[in-house]
Amino acid sequence: MKLFPLFADLQGRRVLVVGGGEVAARKVQLLLEASADVQVGAPELVPELAELADQGRIRVFKGEFQPEWLDEAWLVVAATDDRSVNAAVSEAAEARRIFSNVVDDAELSSFQVPSIVDRSPLIVAISSSGVAPVLARRLRERIESLFDHSLGSLAALAALHRPRIRERRPDLKQRRRFYDWLLDGPVASLLRQQQPAEAERVLNAELDSPQPASQGSVVLVGAGPGDPSLLTLKALRALNEADVILYDRLVSPAVLALARRDADRISVGKLLGEDHNATQSRIHALLVEHAQAGRRVVRLKGGDAFIFGRGGEELEYLRAHDIRYEVVPGITAALACAAYAGIPLTHRDHAQSVRLVTAHCREDEDTLDWAGLAREHQTLAFYMGVGQLGTLSARLISHGRSAATPFALIENGSRPEQRVITGRLDELAAVARSHNVRAPALLVIGEVAGLARQLHWFGRYEEGQREALAA
Ligand code: SAH
Repeated sequence: MKLFPLFADLQGRRVLVVGGGEVAARKVQLLLEASADVQVGAPELVPELAELADQGRIRVFKGEFQPEWLDEAWLVVAATDDRSVNAAVSEAAEARRIFSNVVDDAELSSFQVPSIVDRSPLIVAISSSGVAPVLARRLRERIESLFDHSLGSLAALAALHRPRIRERRPDLKQRRRFYDWLLDGPVASLLRQQQPAEAERVLNAELDSPQPASQGSVVLVGAGPGDPSLLTLKALRALNEADVILYDRLVSPAVLALARRDADRISVGKLLGEDHNATQSRIHALLVEHAQAGRRVVRLKGGDAFIFGRGGEELEYLRAHDIRYEVVPGITAALACAAYAGIPLTHRDHAQSVRLVTAHCREDEDTLDWAGLAREHQTLAFYMGVGQLGTLSARLISHGRSAATPFALIENGSRPEQRVITGRLDELAAVARSHNVRAPALLVIGEVAGLARQLHWFGRYEEGQREALAA
């Protein structure tokens, strides 16, 4: 071990920072966060430091570095752009047995400042002993993405109740189990939900009950359109912590691959011959069954769960069965497909609004306001539309939308197989047929769809042909 890791209590202790530039200012900021008594020494100060001095938050030595500046200091940081000054600071510190850090100069430093992930009171510090700072930074990003910001509050809450936890769970094994429950269970999720009072109530109730509770919970997670990089950090964390994942057919395998290795993965797509309501009842029953067995359930849906995803019905069912839940938004197909096709859904010149619509063109189910949909200067994004394209374009045109309005069909949006096909509204069905468009596909109608021709940047782009291409 080349460097010994330690966490220093700098509260009220003098720390000297030599240098008055941007780099020094950053170090000063960090030291102030640790409540150090910061003294800056430099001939000139950047405005940020001058302001801190005016507010009395730092003291200042004006001028060239003097070894006497070190007299009261416990630590020193040299952050000037002059190596000879930095070396002089380092040498003077060494002579006085004061630890010094020269920014970006491991050779002149007797201590290093690690990369940190701050979830105070919990702090993770990473060092590569100064030899691979890029690697340390990468590692920090990883760890940063793993833990929700509420982890700090959780640690603080646990610290507050430590004596009582010790008293109520005197046996070490029991106590460990309690802490696992604290980290994984309802208290952690209530803190993520910004309900600290309720979190504390649940913690106390658990401590008072002789029988540990084993209620599970459900996280309704939007998996996005397919590209796993479009998951949110929260979705990734939920997948990392899941015991069971109930997923739809639309969820891409690349997303599922990111889940905890030993999580049970259960496909809950529509079965052959089953109607939608039967599928939905089956899903409701599974959600409740697994949550009541004390598992952490992730309900994973394509795109966003609240956009044509029946997420609302699932929450109503959970609420009726008193099962705790959280919701993590996902990137819905319209947003993702538009972005990956180079189609700005709104545009100052072409569209002032955008409507997300699901296309049911069957006479008996058609409750859409076609006159409203046919209005100009708006973008329509149709979900689940591939089957009824002829009826759809005919209705829009008969209600007044121009036959020349551009459309774009985006098949497998954001996935490696993505294909974008554009054309004019009156040729929609013919083009879809001759290009053999398959689900999942999203249909965008409006002037902005025409911009895909210049702005497309991902996957394949095809100019719509009515007739079969070179059959
Ligand atoms: N909850 C989902 C939508 C479910 S409805 C969301 O927010 O995206 C299913 C429809 O969404 C599909 O028929 C298709 O129109 C669209 N869709 C979903 N993923 C898609 C993708 N990767 N590419 C194109 N269309 C997609």
